Amino acid sequence: MLNIILMGPPGAGKGTHAKWLSTEWHLPHISTGDMFREAMASGSELGNKIKDIVNGGGLVSDELTCELVKERLSREDCANGYLLDGFPRTIPQAEALASFGKEIGREVNLVIDIECPSDVLIKRISGRRVCPKCGASFNVETMKPKVEGVCDYCGTPLIQRKDDNASSFAVRLENYHKSTAPLLDFYKKAGLLHSFDGTLPILNMEAELGALLKSKE
Ligand code: AMP
Repeated sequence: MLNIILMGPPGAGKGTHAKWLSTEWHLPHISTGDMFREAMASGSELGNKIKDIVNGGGLVSDELTCELVKERLSREDCANGYLLDGFPRTIPQAEALASFGKEIGREVNLVIDIECPSDVLIKRISGRRVCPKCGASFNVETMKPKVEGVCDYCGTPLIQRKDDNASSFAVRLENYHKSTAPLLDFYKKAGLLHSFDGTLPILNMEAELGALLKSKE
């Protein structure tokens, strides 16, 4: 059983690779960012509470985030594995996941870390366009959709995320280095960490990731 965490700075390619991995390996793709964006789009109480934080590039509270993830991982579709994208992002979140993961029988057994230099990240983020319906990600320079401005998978008009601007990106990158990067050591010590070069062409990355998952199956 593969209970996977996908880690990496904003723009490293987590969403893109998560989409492929979840389809190929039949794993539910659980993205806390997508969950928060859905809550904001629906105008729910949670959505209104977190809107300014998310759009500004800040981190939602550990308590709120962990509660959401625990509930999601408890569902039946995660019984045979899952792919977490964007969680955990802080040491307290990783500690909470270790504890509730044990409690609900969903302990993490593989951590994939996608590394990427900052100059590549900023270029990717500024050109990124996403599908608000299925979450697919494109880039106006490097990963163009077949029809300009339209999602290849579901035909929905693409949008630019509100937090994909220079100032929110700077906050997100700083948060990554300050709060999330220490998790790499946490998972390295646990013997679960596998790091990859996120600047590799997508097909090469897929081949490497596929080989890793096969070896762990
Ligand atoms: P992402 O789609 O993973 O880039 O996440 C978008 C935004 O959602 C982040 O910049 C945060 O504001 C929020 N978010 C997503 N995951 C978490 C998390 N694990 N902890 C706190 N905030 C999060």
